[in-house]
Amino acid sequence: MRGGPKEPVAVILARARCRRLRQDPHVQDQRPRGSRGCAARPRCRPAPADDHGGVRVSSEPLADVPPAEELLAEGVLAKFLRYVRIDTRSDPAGQAVPTTPGQWDLSRLLAAEARAMGLVDVAVDAHGIVTATLPARGHPDPVGGVTVGLLAHVDTSPAVSGNGVRPIVHRGYAGGALHLPAGAVLEPRAHPALSEVVGHDLVTSDGSTLLGADNKAGVAEIMAAVAHLLCHPETPRARLRLAFTTDEETGRGIEFLDVDGFGADVAYTVDGGALGEISFENFDAGNYRVTVVGRSSHTGTARGQMVNALHLAGQLLAMVPAVARPETTGGRDGFVHFDAVAGNVERVELTVLLRDFDAEGLAERERWLRAACAALQAAAPGSTLAVERIGGYRNMREAVARRPGVVALAERAMRSAGVSPHVAPIRGGTDGARLSEKGLPTPNLFTGGMDFHSRTEWISVQWMAKAVDTLVELARLWAVEPA
Ligand SMILES: [Zn+2]
Repeated sequence: MRGGPKEPVAVILARARCRRLRQDPHVQDQRPRGSRGCAARPRCRPAPADDHGGVRVSSEPLADVPPAEELLAEGVLAKFLRYVRIDTRSDPAGQAVPTTPGQWDLSRLLAAEARAMGLVDVAVDAHGIVTATLPARGHPDPVGGVTVGLLAHVDTSPAVSGNGVRPIVHRGYAGGALHLPAGAVLEPRAHPALSEVVGHDLVTSDGSTLLGADNKAGVAEIMAAVAHLLCHPETPRARLRLAFTTDEETGRGIEFLDVDGFGADVAYTVDGGALGEISFENFDAGNYRVTVVGRSSHTGTARGQMVNALHLAGQLLAMVPAVARPETTGGRDGFVHFDAVAGNVERVELTVLLRDFDAEGLAERERWLRAACAALQAAAPGSTLAVERIGGYRNMREAVARRPGVVALAERAMRSAGVSPHVAPIRGGTDGARLSEKGLPTPNLFTGGMDFHSRTEWISVQWMAKAVDTLVELARLWAVEPA
């Protein structure tokens, strides 16, 4: 089954254009009359085609891809609305990567748009990963300067449907509850960040699907920042390498990004949440399989014979302190999480996720798990409880600390864009954690999106514009004063 829209992209684009939004039945304007106008960043006029930082802008119209002038002039909102309509939900059960055909649809669209805008080295690899280059400009050493990677993922969470996303733009959010047509409600009590965006233009789904701001907001913001830089060749910029990756949500896509071939010195994932968020710490994570083997016998003659693996598994679950679980921890606390269990009297398999913010803390949790299993085995002769590590990832903090300018310049870029940076540890992993482990320091920057992986996912258009400004400034800072 292929996802994605069947109408030409040009039609979607036309619908998404700011000036037409107010006629769209899915746009709700809550602002007083007289104050209405496009809230997205002012349109930039493309520079002459022969003045795009030495890169050629294709003048040939590509099928189903908006013309270059349109791609360069439209705002981040139009790009975002175009991308969220393509169903790119990933599938944990999928065999190949990408795990779903819709991811191919968006990857191919992005590659075509990148080519049309005039990016170079545009490629889509065998796993749907799109890479492209924006050459440096105004740098004394355009070849030898720092190359900055910008990454976002095209897939959306498998947790909620992404099929037939109908984005709604709520102009001038007036505060209070936002009722979505399919029944979901955004309440400030449940979503406190809503109080920070009164007066903003918010985008949601109709409540029957997720929105897909995770991570199409990041994709749109990177594309909009690149468009802005192409329109402003007078702005110095570092060489940028873009990567739009697949299957981030299943954790499988990033393994296929060739880090050496990507050729960035530093990188950023644009996959965070609220305005100003920057993350360069994530969990040290270990995933384990505990296999409990018991002994089956007829229940009528089980006395002294049966060793029930189900009861042993139950005892193991009961040993997890209530205060050490995901549902009772936050901030910088780690946790023990039993994620799945399957089995019978003879054999039970449990999946356990251990998380901490430092390697020693994770090792301590692993020792606890092994000791608990050993104790249960000793108390139940005839049983075995085996612990096997089956995956995990590392905290990116150390790798990022080796290149301090990565965080410092991002914070400066935010301040220049009028944004107060705030450091937020990630209670999970990101593609950046894996890249950092492979030697490419890759902190995570905000997108402006909130309540990811849910039907009430929302994003502020004004926050998206700030993300674009931050990326533009980041490209400039790396060119003029590489750390
Ligand atoms: Zn994401």
